[in-house]
Amino acid sequence: MRYESTRGSCPQVSSAQAIKTGLAPDGGLYVPERIPKLSREQRDGLTSLAYPARAAELLSLFLTDYSKEELRQCADSAYSADKFPPAAVAPLRRLDDNISCLELWHGPTSAFKDIALQFLPYLLTGAVAKTGEAGEVVILVATSGDTGKAALEGFRDVPGTRCLVFYPHGGVSEIQRLQMATQEGANVGVVAVRGNFDDTQNGVKAIFTDAAYGGELARCGLRLSSANSINWGRLVPQIVYYFAAYAELAGGGVLTEGEAVNIVVPTGNFGNILAAYYAREMGLPVHRLICAANANNVLADFINTGVYDRNRPFVKTASPSMDILISSNLERLLYELAGRDAAVVRGWMAGLQKKGTYRIGGGALEQMQSVFWAGSANDAETFAAIKATNSSYGYTIDTHTGVAKCVYDKYRQATGDGRKSIIAATASPFKFAASVVEAIAGPAAVAGKDEFALLRELAQISQMAPPAALADLNEKSIRHTIVCERTEMKTAISHLLGL
Ligand SMILES: *Cc1c(COP(=O)(O)O)cnc(C)c1O
Repeated sequence: MRYESTRGSCPQVSSAQAIKTGLAPDGGLYVPERIPKLSREQRDGLTSLAYPARAAELLSLFLTDYSKEELRQCADSAYSADKFPPAAVAPLRRLDDNISCLELWHGPTSAFKDIALQFLPYLLTGAVAKTGEAGEVVILVATSGDTGKAALEGFRDVPGTRCLVFYPHGGVSEIQRLQMATQEGANVGVVAVRGNFDDTQNGVKAIFTDAAYGGELARCGLRLSSANSINWGRLVPQIVYYFAAYAELAGGGVLTEGEAVNIVVPTGNFGNILAAYYAREMGLPVHRLICAANANNVLADFINTGVYDRNRPFVKTASPSMDILISSNLERLLYELAGRDAAVVRGWMAGLQKKGTYRIGGGALEQMQSVFWAGSANDAETFAAIKATNSSYGYTIDTHTGVAKCVYDKYRQATGDGRKSIIAATASPFKFAASVVEAIAGPAAVAGKDEFALLRELAQISQMAPPAALADLNEKSIRHTIVCERTEMKTAISHLLGL
């Protein structure tokens, strides 16, 4: 299987090359030359397998320069019992006959990004070896909170790699700050940047495209790479859990053979829902993919109207990991909607670059709307959904999952579609304890409490134990204290790399 750029202006590459490079040199995203289809027998065959074996089966269809045995070893290491619960990497929690929550947050950092970021280091070091490159890979990450910690945990002490994370000083939650500041590992670095997330992200992007600096690093045997979801190696492990969820429900007799389900995904950068789209294209019986946005509803508007318009205020919400106005992975869907015509994609992306907007034509819009349904939820609606889920089902969800539940309810109302539905639960409620406690018990329950008091409060309310890695944070020593100006990020990198 070869990989091609959505902008069509650079040669096809192997899967290993695509993973090592991250972003294609023409600025596009790498996509597989075709989407493999699973036969019914292949799909049924997954039912009897454990999660790592399912991952190896599915990934071997895409990553053809890795052997199935190799992928199986990667999966066994990525999803070992010290990282994920032994029984299920992504357990399903059934709320009623129709709705199941797919809990994607049982990894080391309590958000779904662990499922891909525990896997990516194995794929990346494999890719470096396969492409015959010597030297070390330096992963640069700009984060608004969840990706940075998940990347640090994934890459810590992985031979041949360094992982350097930049986050906006004062711009992440206290739990998220502590998660990063206490990070262990000999090959990691964490820097707070005086600026907001956009400044941080722009700083990292500028370093990626700084040829002189790249040359300087190359002379020291270092190469920069990305752990962002623009990297195909970050996206492909996410396809697995949708097949796994279906296999669990089918194996448990909840679904009849071939019965189609809806999948609901709280969406920001369009990575997680795109993985569900690929699963559907591969033959997973899915009726609708329901795209749930928060008040930054640029994607929901796009799906409903065909017009993408980022010219709107950026809203800070209680679901910060979805506060985004440019969803980079959407380009991979656009490529499919354009009938894989890269010139059409280039035109749309030029519109986005120049005017912040573009419109897709009738055929592409119809095709998109035949698969996707979209809606949005503001913070008040999200809090109401968290409270209602807690009182109706005795089940506590985080703010991102709350957005998804609210939009699912709107879908049900609007369409009357009572099909069985899977909601992607993307973070542990303990990661956003203040908002979740406020949603369920009101603002008075939050007043005057620090993060650790809030974890205890939420444990009471939810009847769940906080993830140990969060509860123990106040006993860990602070290891990372560097704060830099946004103009000094390169200096910080050189310092951390010992150059
Ligand atoms: C990153 C994130 C999302 C958004 O996922 P995308 O793949 O960017 O659409 C949703 N919820 C949580 C908790 C996240 O960390």
